[in-house]
Amino acid sequence: MSRAPQLRISGERLWSRLMDMARIGATPRGGCNRLALTDEDRAARELFMSWCREVGCEVRVDEIGNIFARRSGRNSDRPPVLAGSHLDTQPTGGRFDGVFGVLAALEVVETLNDHGLETGAPIDVVSWTNEEGARFAGAMTGSAVWSGQMSLEEARALRDADGKSFGEELQRIGFVGDLPARPAPLTACFEIHIEQGPRLEAEGTTIGVVTGAQHMGWYEIRIRGREAHAGTTPMAMRHDPMRGLSRILPRLFAIADQHGEDSRLTCGVVHTEPASINTVPGLLTMTLDIRHPDRSAHETMVRDCSQIVQEECSGLGLAATLESLWETPGVVFDRGCIDAVRKAASLCGCSFKEMLSGAGHDAVNVSKVAPTSMIFVPCEGGVSHNEEERAEPADLEAGCNVLLHAVLAMAG
Ligand SMILES: [Zn+2]
Repeated sequence: MSRAPQLRISGERLWSRLMDMARIGATPRGGCNRLALTDEDRAARELFMSWCREVGCEVRVDEIGNIFARRSGRNSDRPPVLAGSHLDTQPTGGRFDGVFGVLAALEVVETLNDHGLETGAPIDVVSWTNEEGARFAGAMTGSAVWSGQMSLEEARALRDADGKSFGEELQRIGFVGDLPARPAPLTACFEIHIEQGPRLEAEGTTIGVVTGAQHMGWYEIRIRGREAHAGTTPMAMRHDPMRGLSRILPRLFAIADQHGEDSRLTCGVVHTEPASINTVPGLLTMTLDIRHPDRSAHETMVRDCSQIVQEECSGLGLAATLESLWETPGVVFDRGCIDAVRKAASLCGCSFKEMLSGAGHDAVNVSKVAPTSMIFVPCEGGVSHNEEERAEPADLEAGCNVLLHAVLAMAG
């Protein structure tokens, strides 16, 4: 154990693997397009598995296509320490979202090999299937099935925009494994990820010690009015959902402002019907994504939004509803795992701060069944889900060193 504190990963090897992986599905603007269960996803999986076998791991695939690469420990009866993330990307994604977490975990294994260090518990490097949900809606599918949040049948029945099913596509790329997709006991689970937000960079902090994830929900607002001729119907005689929206929106954003700098409110999709340039729309649908770290603040935001929609629409003779499409309560990560990350950051001489995750991650699903926490590193301008996503090699190296020592602390 005496040489463990000086143990460091190879930043160069990690970076070169990241750049090799980025060639698969490379986009002209320097990003990656590796949608889940496409040929590009298959190529990335195969490259990852070849690296895992080169470093002596035993690779297994489960029924939903999650890949687990095991480095055995001294005591094979001890539950493994799991570390990893995902290899799939958004259609115009970056080179680091997800893939950094997978390859950092692989780098941890290779570093231990280089130094001939054996751990007590085995280490499993994981790549989860369809984290992004960009092709098959329903993000974090692989970890959701594995952790029992979603059934295998439900996941296999998901369809992409062309009508192709998740199950058929998983079969086509050859990744229906024989390992059951259900939680095996874990000693601990760590996921390292770029922050995908601007805070670490803005504060000049290297490591985010992630203590949990915020409450989030997706909602749909439907405003029904009456279709009418754009030229002949006087303004006062219209039942125009768009006018309703014009009153609702400023008040919705005011709600977000009232709930402090940690609140998030996004209207990402607005549709009208019949979507004709010279017809007053008869129906408007709009999505809302509402997030807040505090449960009661989140509930208040949703309730207030619903009330505003009702108030403004009824005053205009419009019928309106706000319905929940999906909600997920925030999670508090495991204290032991959080402490291991904090101690590892101190040991490595990194600046760090505790923070919540603003995005959903596979680790949130895993945390429902096993002790889990996350590590964040800065990304340039907080930009992610974007081909321009960038991270500093030195920050990735520092984060990977923190992962190494957190894994070592838990694996023994
Ligand atoms: Zn990700």
